[in-house]
Amino acid sequence: MAVQPDIKNFTEQTLAHWLEQRDIKPYRATQILKWIYHRKVYCFSEMTDISKQRRQWFSQELRISRLKPVEVQSSSDGSKKFLFRLKDGQCIESVLIPERGHSTLCVSSQVGCAMGCKFCLTGRGGMVRDLEPAEIVNQVCAAQDDLSDPDRLTNIVFMGMGEPLANYNGVVQAIDNITNDRALQFANRRVTLSTVGLAPKINDLGRDTKVNLAVSLNAADNKTRDTLMPINRTYPIETLLSACRKFPLPSRRMITFEYVLIAGLNDKPEDAQRLAKILRPLRAKINLIPFNSFEGSPFARPDEATILAFQKVLIDRHYTTIIRQSKGSDIGAACGQLRAKSCSVDGLIKSPN
Ligand code: SF4
Repeated sequence: MAVQPDIKNFTEQTLAHWLEQRDIKPYRATQILKWIYHRKVYCFSEMTDISKQRRQWFSQELRISRLKPVEVQSSSDGSKKFLFRLKDGQCIESVLIPERGHSTLCVSSQVGCAMGCKFCLTGRGGMVRDLEPAEIVNQVCAAQDDLSDPDRLTNIVFMGMGEPLANYNGVVQAIDNITNDRALQFANRRVTLSTVGLAPKINDLGRDTKVNLAVSLNAADNKTRDTLMPINRTYPIETLLSACRKFPLPSRRMITFEYVLIAGLNDKPEDAQRLAKILRPLRAKINLIPFNSFEGSPFARPDEATILAFQKVLIDRHYTTIIRQSKGSDIGAACGQLRAKSCSVDGLIKSPN
């Protein structure tokens, strides 16, 4: 018997089209999405405003997938890490981070990653496969199920395992369901996608969605960035920043630039000065992420004085600059560490972008 399509792999539009091709009114798509995402009903037979016969037809033709964590780890700082096992046995993680009355969920977009950033353990493990849209959306649904008040989950960041723009179609379809009022209802300004800088895809993202853009930059010159991030040889800093300048930014929104601070490599005041210079005239804010050490890594975290001096250079040049503290260090702060322990993958995994 053929596997039924997973309804969570459809957007409202593609589901309406799929139904129309089967002589079913397209408004049924809206109706079903509301049952699933608003009322959390995961069985067609319970969708009582649809005729019994039609409900039966839906049950035969489509399935509604869910993800339940196989392991949950809670940190003393309140963050929670979920490990999910997918239908092919692969594992992914999401991290729920509480922040003054609301929560942010960091989702994965791929199993593994092909980008090979030198400061990241996920990169070391290599690429396994793209996540389906349903597997991304289900990370959000599972986090909502875990919270006593699902409305407390207000922000979604694509900063977990994988490079989201390398799984472009899957991620954009997931974003559609995350931001659609008939589905998960997150405001576009509450969703952020972080990329290593696939420049042409940044243009596409600006055309196809209205979410926030974050760029994992990590160096202000090509020589240093080449050594840290192989993608820089394909899309060097000038190409990347040119794509950022064309990215459509609604008023009062900024592009976030993430910068992993590594001792002796990119943490000097001159690096900060160069960074301030190359980002002009972009509306940019900067997240500094002191390197989180892992076994076998050749890099080290700078000392506090160096981190603060770097931040001061940027603040003096009027950039909002935050030092991002690592959450959940007692539960394996880095994205992928739980997965590495529970699944047979090589090495530990970490995704700072
Ligand atoms: S930092 Fe992100 S893009 Fe780079 S290797 Fe890690 S997961 Fe991939």
